[in-house]
Amino acid sequence: MIGAVVVDIEGTTSPTAAVREDLYGYTRQRLPGWLAEDSPAAAAVLAATRELAGQPDAGPAEAAAILRGWLDSDVKAEPLKTAQGLICAEGFRSGALHGEFFPDVPPALAAWHAAGLALYVYSSGSVRNQQDWFAFARGGSLSDLISGHFDLSTAGGKRESASYDKIAGAIGAPAERILFLSDHPDELDAAVAAGWRVVGLARPGEPNPPRPPHRWVDTFAEIDPTAIA
Ligand SMILES: [Mg+2]
Repeated sequence: MIGAVVVDIEGTTSPTAAVREDLYGYTRQRLPGWLAEDSPAAAAVLAATRELAGQPDAGPAEAAAILRGWLDSDVKAEPLKTAQGLICAEGFRSGALHGEFFPDVPPALAAWHAAGLALYVYSSGSVRNQQDWFAFARGGSLSDLISGHFDLSTAGGKRESASYDKIAGAIGAPAERILFLSDHPDELDAAVAAGWRVVGLARPGEPNPPRPPHRWVDTFAEIDPTAIA
């Protein structure tokens, strides 16, 4: 019997394009100005970017160009994630950004939560961005439904089964009682290798094609975690 559901964001709860265009676009636009600000956070990101890029003399403008390059090529670099988290936090609070969800997702999460399931999020986006994505959801906050968030720095890579072991330990649930929902077959494979139950999301217009042997559905409305053995 499933006791916990862990959801991916991009392609699963939310359109990949919304995450990319909204968060990445806002981050891209704000990076040069934000890095040029005289703040401890910007100084820390600047230092970490210089070190990671091997360019110890890079100024804010050069560092912004480096970070934009990583953003455009989807490099999961820590200074980029930190900057994105902080920049987007400002955007959510100013009303420039909202969490976008497929329409079937909020009612399903509410129903599963009401049924006593514990709900968690595991995404490559930072925990801070994930929390804001749910808190500033366009149709109203979904934060109260979520018991915890995991990202690459707290759990590890999404295609490694060890990451799912780590999350199971943090949740405190046996692997076979955890259901993972994702649009990425490699992530489903890794979760299954850790002993989890999985269902794949193959939503129209999303980029990752489904792959056996997993069960694939179009919407959260087709999933009843309480019916999964
Ligand atoms: Mg995904």
